[in-house]
Amino acid sequence: MPTELNFYNTLTHRVETFAPIEPPRVLMYNCGPTVYDFAHIGNFRAFVFADVLRRFLEMVGYDVKQVMNITDVGHMTDDQLADGGGEDKMVAAAKRVKEAKKQGTLTTDQIDNPDDPYQVAKFYTNAFLEDARKLGLKIADEYPEHMPRATGFIAQMQRLISRLIDKGHAYESPAGGTVYFSVESFPEYGRLSGNTLDKLRGGAGGRVLDEHQAGKRHPADFLLWKADSSHVMKWESPWGVGYPGWHIECSAMSLAVLSKLAGQEVTTIDIHTGGEDNIFPHHECEIAQSCGSTGSSSFARLWMHTRFLLVEGQKMSKSKGNFYTVRDVLEGKATGRPVDPAVLRYELLRSHYRSNMNFTAKGLEDSAGAVAKLRDYTQRWEQEVNGQSVEVDPQHPMLADFTRALSDDLSISGGIGALFTWAAGKHPDPAQSLAALRAVDGVLGVLGSASAPTDDSAELCRQLDAARAAKDFAKADAIRRQLQDAGYEVMTTKAGTTAKKKLA
Ligand code: AMP
Ligand code: ZN
Repeated sequence: MPTELNFYNTLTHRVETFAPIEPPRVLMYNCGPTVYDFAHIGNFRAFVFADVLRRFLEMVGYDVKQVMNITDVGHMTDDQLADGGGEDKMVAAAKRVKEAKKQGTLTTDQIDNPDDPYQVAKFYTNAFLEDARKLGLKIADEYPEHMPRATGFIAQMQRLISRLIDKGHAYESPAGGTVYFSVESFPEYGRLSGNTLDKLRGGAGGRVLDEHQAGKRHPADFLLWKADSSHVMKWESPWGVGYPGWHIECSAMSLAVLSKLAGQEVTTIDIHTGGEDNIFPHHECEIAQSCGSTGSSSFARLWMHTRFLLVEGQKMSKSKGNFYTVRDVLEGKATGRPVDPAVLRYELLRSHYRSNMNFTAKGLEDSAGAVAKLRDYTQRWEQEVNGQSVEVDPQHPMLADFTRALSDDLSISGGIGALFTWAAGKHPDPAQSLAALRAVDGVLGVLGSASAPTDDSAELCRQLDAARAAKDFAKADAIRRQLQDAGYEVMTTKAGTTAKKKLA
């Protein structure tokens, strides 16, 4: 590979030179959405990061096999506990959907029976894919091959659990039916998160629920299979009827799907990502299960975690009322104006993944300005080259600067800075400039036709002028308001009416 890339590895706490096992192939797994609600912009910060990473690796010549799971069972409401306590999020969702349908706050004919969590999961999976496509995530085009559903991999999870029991890493509870991972059987436990067993014994981070204490050999032992014949999503298993723990899902799906895509059995993958809250217990447990079952000393060589998104400096939470889904933002519920999906994507990607991102109306406005500028450059150069296109010069100085910045632990602000400084300069060869801009947009993903706003404003302007000509001013005003509500700036001059989309 020509370019040396350096990324921060959560596992080693160091910036390391990226060295995939079998270059140019890169096997990457991203913890994906739990499909119990519409995804929020914090979730999408993690997903857009994974997409930018993939696109950048592809830009410098790697062949990325990306897998992102869909969790549709077993993710509990108290997932900060090593054991995952509370209620299955899918079961909680089914109750919420039922109530929302009754209240009329959720109208969909995709769920005719809210008691059926499979219908609820399917509805929110479709909603996720729709959001993901709008925000330009490449993985959405690889659904379902690269986006496994947990409920489709129960057999693989059970095989992993059986292997862990055979190797002495897991045991069935004395009462039977429930299987735990034995953390004491895995001396490396705690290496990723720092929550080593001595610290956990002291109560740090690894609190467990009393209800699970019974039958455990160590308080931090975590659930692999939960005996529960009353759960709405349940399967037969060698240990009785029940459902899998959340952590085992990702061990099973990552190894199974990436092995399939690699065309060989893999026990170590190149990159694993997630949000910072996934480090413990989820990823710590994934490492123990995966290495415990395969015998490999390494499950993922590089662990990358995105820091949380904050809203106006505060943690996003439903109770504070600053909790936004992607839909809320795009439809204008966050800022009072509809937002172009490309602008939201840009806003989510433009701050460094290892810093908290602060989501603000001002930030969105700045992103709108940046995307508008990039579109202006594109349009100008497209007009100048008049349909002619050239291959990008791989030595192009802006491209080299952009690549150098992102090679440094994905310093996106450095890359964007290089792009805008260059774009504002002189461009004697617009065909080459356009090619370079398009190459960078292969990573940024904001210029694609899919993310351009759909526009029926011209027709409405024509109707507005016709209403004015007919002296039907009430109708003209109504059309003007319709355009303004859709986020257009409307101007009427002697030459007629024009409407320009405000980007945020
Ligand atoms: P979930 O749907 O809850 O399983 O979460 C999906 C992904 O979003 C996980 O990788 C989480 O770590 C990540 N995530 C959740 N909340 C935030 C947030 N506020 N900012 C950034 N990432 C988040
Ligand atoms: Zn996961």
